[in-house]
Amino acid sequence: MTVLDAFSLAGKVAVVTGASRGIGRALAQALGEAGAAVAVTARTAEPAQRAADELRAAGINALPVSLDVTDPAQVDRMVERVSDGLGPIDVLVNNAGISIGRAALDTPEQVWREVLATNLDGVWYCCKAVGAQMVARGSGSIVNVGSMSGMIVNRPRWQPPYLASKAAVHQLTKALAAEWAPHGVRVNAVAPGYILTEASPVDQPEYREWCVEPAAMKRYGLPEELGPAVVFLASRASSFMTGSVVVIDGGYTLF
Ligand code: NDP
Repeated sequence: MTVLDAFSLAGKVAVVTGASRGIGRALAQALGEAGAAVAVTARTAEPAQRAADELRAAGINALPVSLDVTDPAQVDRMVERVSDGLGPIDVLVNNAGISIGRAALDTPEQVWREVLATNLDGVWYCCKAVGAQMVARGSGSIVNVGSMSGMIVNRPRWQPPYLASKAAVHQLTKALAAEWAPHGVRVNAVAPGYILTEASPVDQPEYREWCVEPAAMKRYGLPEELGPAVVFLASRASSFMTGSVVVIDGGYTLF
């Protein structure tokens, strides 16, 4: 096998949660360009359909699926739908996530619950449902989208539930990696720094001070700059890696 062959996902089936826009949309495209058939999920039908149509126009076999990751019954239905529509799932990318910025004492219970339900429970439900299939088949690769916020307290420094959820995702990644390695299933994570998406706080005057200046590379990242790393982790190119958290942050966490 050549090095380039090792990165190929030809014949593989991938699922990307939260693929209607931003990072998830770019990751779905990257996996598709590497040869995978890709299920693109969003909470409602229309954005998932739009993303799938765009990917199909680029020559990618894409299946739109409605999925709210906070609902385990919907996660089970997603696994059935993808398995029926594309085949058994080889690659799962847990990308769906939200960030709500509030100081600790201004964070209502409901915000804490919403962030943890999406960013942590959602990853758990998807890993469990898809992992069961992968363990039974003896192969598969899961890539969780964590964050540098799971490793440091980055500016603006008022996102306690978000930081807690991402640190938990990193540790869940390692726990599942250890448990499922004997079954041929690898579980890794990426920890992005500030990436320019609709979720970025670009409307805040301090945006540059928070997101750009602290990074060694003095810029934000683009969603498409995460794609190659996720293809690497999803493919045989990373066959001896599991439980790793790959930081992609333009040097933000160096200091
Ligand atoms: P966006 O807000 O641009 O996109 C979020 C995606 O998640 C959308 O596709 C949205 O779909 C989906 N989503 C939200 N809630 C749910 C839910 N309950 N169930 C299913 N899907 C859901 O975010 P980003 O692209 O910026 O972020 C993507 C991931 O990357 C997140 O996990 C985030 O924490 C992480 N990240 C982002 C960074 C950044 O700087 N942008 C930095 C580090 C990590 P829809 O609304 O259509 O249902």
